[in-house]
Amino acid sequence: MALKLYDTASRTKRDFVPQDAGRVTLYVCGPTVYAPAHVGNFRPEVVFDVLFRVLRHRYGEDQVLFARNFTDVDDKINAAAAREGVDISVISQRFTKIYLDDAAALNVLPKTFEPTATGHMDHIVAMIERLVADGFAYAEQGHVLFSVKAYEAYGGFSRRPLEDMLAGARVEVAPYKRDPGDFVLWKPAKPGEPSWPSPFGEGRPGWHIECSAMIESQLGETIDIHGGGVDLVFPHHENEIAQSACVHGGKALANYWLHNGFLSMNDEKMSKSEGNIVTVHEMLARGIKGESVRYALLSGQYRAPLDWDNLLLERALKSLDRLYGVLRRLGGVEAASGAEPGAVLTALHDDLNTPKALAALFEIAGRANKAGDKDAQSAAKGELLAAGSLLGLLQEDPDAWFGLDSVDPDERAEIDALIEARAEARKAKDFARADEIRDTLTAKGVQMEDSPEGSIWRLSRG
Ligand SMILES: [Zn+2]
Repeated sequence: MALKLYDTASRTKRDFVPQDAGRVTLYVCGPTVYAPAHVGNFRPEVVFDVLFRVLRHRYGEDQVLFARNFTDVDDKINAAAAREGVDISVISQRFTKIYLDDAAALNVLPKTFEPTATGHMDHIVAMIERLVADGFAYAEQGHVLFSVKAYEAYGGFSRRPLEDMLAGARVEVAPYKRDPGDFVLWKPAKPGEPSWPSPFGEGRPGWHIECSAMIESQLGETIDIHGGGVDLVFPHHENEIAQSACVHGGKALANYWLHNGFLSMNDEKMSKSEGNIVTVHEMLARGIKGESVRYALLSGQYRAPLDWDNLLLERALKSLDRLYGVLRRLGGVEAASGAEPGAVLTALHDDLNTPKALAALFEIAGRANKAGDKDAQSAAKGELLAAGSLLGLLQEDPDAWFGLDSVDPDERAEIDALIEARAEARKAKDFARADEIRDTLTAKGVQMEDSPEGSIWRLSRG
């Protein structure tokens, strides 16, 4: 089965063929760590985690190398450090930890490499020196700029005419730029700002060169897949491509470029500057389950915009309740080992069609529920768990999911018996008896809900 991915560079869905099936390389631009990331920032984290899982399934767990960077030097980090009177590393380490904790709560697998800008300063400076030496960049008033005119293909990736790209830049052209479109590779530090030595003077790198240097250092000159949010196509990825091609004698930076659509809230793009953000950190603190957030993020196709609201999250929780309900009912059944995630895998091979994959997950759950004998139950449960693992879902123990892992076993048995009795009463159309049992359960603090997959119950919280 071919893995089809929509490639931004060619604007087509293409069969994915790695350069080396024994070493598949993937890079995604990571966050600038100066505040807790909002849920929109976690869309690429979750989407490319699904891609990582699909690639690992296809090529083997150790055959896929995934790097995501942390931008740990930047004006906003400097400003936050200055406000608190601490070193920038205090700020960046604090928010890197929060980011990684949030990502883990969303069942995001750890990356193979998590490089930082400050950890690659020598490599960044060396790359800038190579660009200057070969005439692709120039030093001016303590700055080093990439000369867009020196790279003929500039603008080809984002398919913007040069005139368009310069229209914005022309409003206020910095005096050290030879051409309004030239972008910064290195800038001088202002007094009191953190800085690093370089042949061009004390300073720090621009944002774009960071990724080019880290990709080369961690993964190589040409990688298989480069990902990020759609807002990075221009200028960030256009600039990464230009820098890397010029350093590497015209070689492509990546063979496939994937971009996720942005997240909106009430149909407006979610962004810190718009002030309409909700952070994953505060959602988790409110007791919202990370897996529900992940499910909600996967409920739309990754390239389309996704509108975030509470309803989306509620639906995600309900869907997961139904799936975990099936797993709980099959608690006594051993899952068949080595089960293949079938239709879910097929859906994900079609450019990560997660809505279709989630529908397939429910189809498996339905089959698991209707299975008449232990063998069929075991096979369906195995398939459900394998499919869940590919999506990064159903990773919790079902009892823990419903908050029942701390319930006393005798009480648990009593509740199970009452639920069974209610199901039988309903089957026999003795609705008075069923309602009576329901009242007894409610009095015990048991919340019940009937779903197509059967009754779901949990102890009411608080
Ligand atoms: Zn980048």
